[in-house]
Amino acid sequence: MIITRFAPSPTGNFHMGSLRTAIYNYLYAKKNKGKFLLRIEDTDKERSNKIYEDEILKIFDIFNLQYDNLIYQSKNLSIHQEFLEKLVSTDLAYQSEDGPYKFRVNKDSDYFKYEDLILGEVKIPSNTIEDFSIARSDKTPTFILSNLIDDDFENVTNVIRGNDHTINTVKQKMLSNALNFKEIHYAHIPLIHDIKGKKLSKRDNITNVEDYLNDGYLATSIFNFIIKLGNNFNDIEFLNIDEAVKSFNLSKTTLSPAKFDIEKLNFINQYYLKELSFSDFNKYLEKDVKNQVSSFKLEPIYKDILERCHKYTEINFEVVKLYDFFKKNLVLEIDKNEKDLIKKIHTIINNLHDNDNTLSILEKNGLPLKKIGKIIRKITVNFESKIPIEKIFIFFGIENIKERLLLYIND
Ligand code: GLU
Repeated sequence: MIITRFAPSPTGNFHMGSLRTAIYNYLYAKKNKGKFLLRIEDTDKERSNKIYEDEILKIFDIFNLQYDNLIYQSKNLSIHQEFLEKLVSTDLAYQSEDGPYKFRVNKDSDYFKYEDLILGEVKIPSNTIEDFSIARSDKTPTFILSNLIDDDFENVTNVIRGNDHTINTVKQKMLSNALNFKEIHYAHIPLIHDIKGKKLSKRDNITNVEDYLNDGYLATSIFNFIIKLGNNFNDIEFLNIDEAVKSFNLSKTTLSPAKFDIEKLNFINQYYLKELSFSDFNKYLEKDVKNQVSSFKLEPIYKDILERCHKYTEINFEVVKLYDFFKKNLVLEIDKNEKDLIKKIHTIINNLHDNDNTLSILEKNGLPLKKIGKIIRKITVNFESKIPIEKIFIFFGIENIKERLLLYIND
């Protein structure tokens, strides 16, 4: 059975690159009807922080990445140390003069090689790899040792991770052979670059997943955007998590770095915003906005609001633009022509009800949209909202519109 895992170190915020790694491991496991594990690599007590652990779990929850098992690496410390003893006692490792324990690299052959599921054959000249640390002087294991032992212990068959780990993989392969571990298949995915082609760095770019979520991007949009960085998913434009499982093909991962194009994310986000159900839309409304808008009909026009939003954080603003002027009951200055027009509109709609097709009745009476649009938009939303006139009638309701027209007629 295929077993994959995501193994974050809780030493910093959860970033976009890690999210992609987590998802690829998840998709690969599900595609192969295997298991997906989450292992929090919390052995570095000084740098690990519970806040970051919680952030990982929260993001897994938001993105619906269900794991079969949750493991905390620090619980395995005694096992790591047993293996360290074993390596030292068989002279495969030794304590160096300056303290750390090092693995003795065997340089009998000119190259170290292994088959990577994405990169193909990885071949590194032996003279470029020196004996490497596997534990500190206090016998706490380094990443290279603990990560490998846990993978073996949990019967992990496949590891998908960023290609900044390629040299670590070569080292772990050496260790794995020395310890007679089962073979693990590694796949290294290209790093993510910014639009200018530079490595996406925590310092120069916003890379935290939470920042994007808070900034107004939906999880579905982020999911779609991030999975496409480096893999084309059969060119299917919008996928949910189950569709992504079906069309995921790890071997089609590109070798060149993927470009983080925020415009693409904006485009995807706009698409998914328009797909929101009314009840999901409501979840984004602030309490006060909900109260204010309750006397009008939002449901039939909420998609028009979403058409005007690039981020969910803009929803409230767009709704406010609709009702704010109306609620103030202000009477704007109008000229004689406008007043005549309002009178004519009022005469016609005075006998109409909400279910009547107001716009076509007005048109039949010589008042087509192009004649009345401007004045209706002026006295209802004061040009603040660009929502179609037809939707303005629906949102406020014909009775409210009649009253509003009357305000301008009675003098
Ligand atoms: N804890 C390591 C990291 O966060 C795990 C790398 C791996 O997937 O093996 O980089």
